[in-house]
Amino acid sequence: MTIVLGLTGGIASGKSTADSFFIKKHIPVIDSDLIAHHILDIGEKGYNLVINYFGDQYLAANKTIDRAKLGKLVFNSPKDLAKLNEITHPLIFQEIETKISQHKQENEPLIIVDAPLLFESGGLSYCDRSLLIAVPEKMQVKRLLARNHITEAEALKRINSQMPLAQKQKLADYVVTNTGTIKELEDKLNELLLKLIKEDQYGMS
Ligand code: ATP
Repeated sequence: MTIVLGLTGGIASGKSTADSFFIKKHIPVIDSDLIAHHILDIGEKGYNLVINYFGDQYLAANKTIDRAKLGKLVFNSPKDLAKLNEITHPLIFQEIETKISQHKQENEPLIIVDAPLLFESGGLSYCDRSLLIAVPEKMQVKRLLARNHITEAEALKRINSQMPLAQKQKLADYVVTNTGTIKELEDKLNELLLKLIKEDQYGMS
């Protein structure tokens, strides 16, 4: 049996850090951010759909989609954001489902799908269970400021544009807090793997 575990969490909560742990354990990780990026590359399914709707002014000189310009538009216009999501989400889902099927054919016992908007975008439809990496807002801001060159106000704006942590905690099957060291996070993830083995006779080396 394969378990598809959706991995989510707020911005800078430690999702990529958790991904690295699973990859070290040879567990396949499907990165929905990478897929979302890839489907807008030249020649990919989302490219023509986006340019047909939003227009040539969103093309850079080298004919790639000007992601920064498009991002600025949708960040300030809920209607355009909804349209962009309407175009891209089905393509992202399709690609995630294709990758899940491939890993299932390879008899992988566990597949991780890293999806920052797992709960918001209906990602639970392709997952068996969900794992939330939880970090209190203060720490999220601290890590975000240490990683990105943005102001505290900008960090808070990004955090507050997402579903509140308390709501995500209610929806998640498993919650792992990432308030300690990276080693502590890895130990907790390891514990979760042991729990999955026990619950599902999920076998891994
Ligand atoms: P995003 O939402 O932007 O994709 P993310 O959820 O994938 O972010 P990470 O990139 O894993 O989060 O972590 C955010 C930052 O915090 C990174 O610089 C990472 O190295 C750091 N970080 C993550 N976990 C810890 C920890 N336990 N202790 C110290 N720093 C950490």
